Amino acid sequence: VWWYVFVSGGYAIAFVIKYGGQLPEQTRVLAISSGLFIFTAVIDILYSAGYVPWRGWSSWGFTLMIAFQMINLVHRYRAQTDALRQISLGMEETVQIRTREINELNNELREIAQQDPLTGIGNRLKFNKELDHFLLRSEDPQFRFALVLADIDRFKSINDGFGHPEGDRVLVTMAKICREYLRPGDVVARWGGEEFALLIEVREANDCREVADRLRMQVSSRISLPDGTPVTASFGVGISANGDNAESILARADRALYISKNSGRNKVTCLPENIS
Ligand code: GH3
Ligand code: MG
Ligand code: MG
Repeated sequence: VWWYVFVSGGYAIAFVIKYGGQLPEQTRVLAISSGLFIFTAVIDILYSAGYVPWRGWSSWGFTLMIAFQMINLVHRYRAQTDALRQISLGMEETVQIRTREINELNNELREIAQQDPLTGIGNRLKFNKELDHFLLRSEDPQFRFALVLADIDRFKSINDGFGHPEGDRVLVTMAKICREYLRPGDVVARWGGEEFALLIEVREANDCREVADRLRMQVSSRISLPDGTPVTASFGVGISANGDNAESILARADRALYISKNSGRNKVTCLPENIS
C-alpha cells in the first residue's frame, strides 16, 4: 500500500512537472492544490481501511487548497485591474493621436478652402476675413488702409486670341507680381475671374496711390502676350474712412475701378481723391 501511495504520488508530481508548464499559471495552481487535496483524502481513506497509520491529512489538504485558491483570486484580480488600466491608457493615447490628426486635417482643409487653386493666393473667402480684420483695426484713427481692386484689361480677348492656358498664365503671373510687391502685413487675393483685391496699409497721404501705380507699371512691363503686346490692368483704390464697413469700402473701390476702366484703362483711380 505504501508503495502504491508513493508511486501514484510520484506519477502525479511527474505529470505536473511534464505538463504543468504548458498550463496557464492559475490552472496550474488549481491542479496542484486539488491534486494535493485528493492525495490527502486518499490517505484518509487508506487510514479508515487500516492500511496507513496517519490520520486527519485531508483537512490540512483542504485548507491548503482553499489558501491557494484565495491567492489565485488575488492574483487574477490584480492582473485584470492591470489589464484594464493598460487598455484605458492605450485608449486615451489613441484618442489623443486621433484628435491631433483631425485637427491637422481640419487646418489643412481650412487652408484649402481659402486658397485659389490656380494662383495659390487667397480666394474671396480669405479676403473677406482679412477685410474684417482690417476694418476692426481701422477703429483706431491712426490706422488707415486702402482696398485696391485690380482688373486685367481686355482679358476676354486674351483668352479668345491665345487660348485659356495663356489666360491662366497671365493670371498666375499677375498673382506672383502682386505677392512680390506687397509689404509684410498687406494682403492679396483673387476676387473673381481676372480681378484681384488687395489690402494695403496706408502709412502716408497718397501712399496707396503710389503703391497702386507702381503695381500697374509692374504689370504692364512684366506681363506680355506671345505676340509681344503688354498686358495691362486697371486699378480702383478705396481708402478707408470713419464708420466704413465691408460693403461701403468695396463700393468705393468698385466705383474707382469703374472710373479707371472708363477713362482708357491701365489707370489708377483713388477715392476719395485727397486724403488728409
Ligand atoms: P475689361 O477690360 O472691361 O475688364 O474686359 P475683360 O475682357 O477683361 O472683362 P470681362 O469681364 O468681359 O471678361 C473676363 C473674362 O475672364 C471672361 C472669362 O472667360 C475669363 N476668366 C474668368 N476666370 C478665368 C480663369 O480662371 N482662367 C481664364 N483663362 N479665364 C478666366
Ligand atoms: Mg472683370
Ligand atoms: Mg477685365
